[in-house]
Amino acid sequence: MRASLAWLFFALGAAVPSVAVLVVAVRAASTESARVREEQLAERVAVAQATKRDVEAALARAKETLRRLEPAAVSRLESRLMAEKPAFADVVVMGAEGQMLVPKPMTDEPPSPPQCLADRAELLKGDRTAARNRIVGGCPHLKSEQGRYLWPLLALERVAEGTTPADVVASWIGEHAARLGAAERAVLRARVAPLPEGVRGAALRALDGPLPLHRTLAGLLTEPPGSDPLEAGLRVHRGRYLSLVRPMPEGGAAGFVVHEASMLGAPGLPAHLVLAAGARGDATDVALTPDLVVHVEPRDGATLDAEARRSGHRILAVGVAGVLTAVVLATVLFARARKAQRLAELRTDFVAAVSHELRTPLASVRMLSELLEAGELRDDERPEVDRILAGEARRLSATVERMLRFGALARGRLSVQKSRVPASCILEDARDRFRKAHPDKELVVDAPEALEMHVDPGLVALVLDNLLSNAAKYAAEGHPYRIEARCDGHHALLSVSDSGPGIAARARRRIFSPFERADDRLSRATEGTGVGLSLVRGIARAHGGDAFVKSTVGVGSTFVVRFPMEGA
Ligand code: ADP
Repeated sequence: MRASLAWLFFALGAAVPSVAVLVVAVRAASTESARVREEQLAERVAVAQATKRDVEAALARAKETLRRLEPAAVSRLESRLMAEKPAFADVVVMGAEGQMLVPKPMTDEPPSPPQCLADRAELLKGDRTAARNRIVGGCPHLKSEQGRYLWPLLALERVAEGTTPADVVASWIGEHAARLGAAERAVLRARVAPLPEGVRGAALRALDGPLPLHRTLAGLLTEPPGSDPLEAGLRVHRGRYLSLVRPMPEGGAAGFVVHEASMLGAPGLPAHLVLAAGARGDATDVALTPDLVVHVEPRDGATLDAEARRSGHRILAVGVAGVLTAVVLATVLFARARKAQRLAELRTDFVAAVSHELRTPLASVRMLSELLEAGELRDDERPEVDRILAGEARRLSATVERMLRFGALARGRLSVQKSRVPASCILEDARDRFRKAHPDKELVVDAPEALEMHVDPGLVALVLDNLLSNAAKYAAEGHPYRIEARCDGHHALLSVSDSGPGIAARARRRIFSPFERADDRLSRATEGTGVGLSLVRGIARAHGGDAFVKSTVGVGSTFVVRFPMEGA
């Protein structure tokens, strides 16, 4: 099977189970996230129920405290109740006329100067812009006739026009938020849009803060107190407030009041949960009366959500890592199997190639020796037959020599007997051998007289013979060939160049490996076993050097073999 087809089948075979495992992992991850979210909800429900039980138990104790309460001066009553109040309730003390004494009313701002009031009147009729500018510039406490603040609304208009700095309005809101009623807060919340992101957030947070206690409790005085006959001696109101008040003999009343804002201080919740205002309509609601409901929510919803997502992601990551590991392992195993298969194919080709390389000269030798034996040759034919016989014998012995050396190299038994030899001698001997084998090819030798190499001359001769015979085989028309010796200071460099067809970049990487041949027409059409260049590189490396090729398709190739200089 062709390699690309085999890889395609492998990719398909690996992709199908990988996708299946990934789908399973994604589903497991989302199930896990849902499970963690369910666990978190179940915990909040349990905390909501426990909180409700705690609050009711604390209220029962508060009733006892009130029943035991002795009439006393307001300040004493206040400190007594403060000492015994449940953590989620506020103390309330009302005077004989029903006025709220505790918590203390908030002191009001100074009345607006007459000019501000005049400007306020001007707003409705005359030059609206001028009046508004004067109010924003100098009347920060100006209110409408109904007692609602005018200043922030006018100033926000000017922020939108770009004439009042946004942070001035934002800091006014921060400072005054505690004095603003629910309706004013709602209007301002809707109008802070023109403030830039950062200050808008701060203003909204201030507007979302709890209403001041006095303002909150003012409603207590106006709502009709519901009386519960079971709560002897106490007035119990259950509405938006849950109040337990004990009337005092000389008029007035004292007690505890639980409202949305006071509930938020309820203690005993795990650190990551908080009580938040308003009902949610689910099991995390803590309902003390039908109208007074808070709920349990995560202090940092994003963190809990992230935790749920993280546990999902963890499962997904394990799934993906598993798939990747399996794919990498399968790829490695597949690549190794392909390599082994290719090596087996190459070896088979190699045996066939060696047999072929031996058979051709052997056939010539046999045929010519039979002619000689039969005495059928004329005298003038004898020299030519002798020359052919000697040539074929050289070819045979070169092939056998190459195979023996390759075998030794493959077994790691290549022995290197170094001696000092002039490079020019090595090159000239190689030229002489080449000329005998290829009298029709030109070869140029270029070696400095002084360059001496410290090598095994027999092995280097084998290197040059291989490279030159390759040049003659694969670059038949690319002569004159050139063998050259150079020194780069640390190495002696022997090179063999031709101006033949060159070698493609893909093949250049492979041809130094055993049995590999460039997969081109030229290689297929030419006898060869694919061991020559691996022997060249093996011999160079056995000397501590290396071999490589520089080649341009259509221009030619230069094989360079590097041997370390003595002492380098
Ligand atoms: P063989 O010659 O027995 O095939 P080698 O290891 O000597 O084995 O060469 C490997 C391959 O390198 C050859 O099959 C040929 O494709 C390529 N090759 C070697 N020398 C040259 C050259 N001078 N020009 C072009 N291709 C070459």
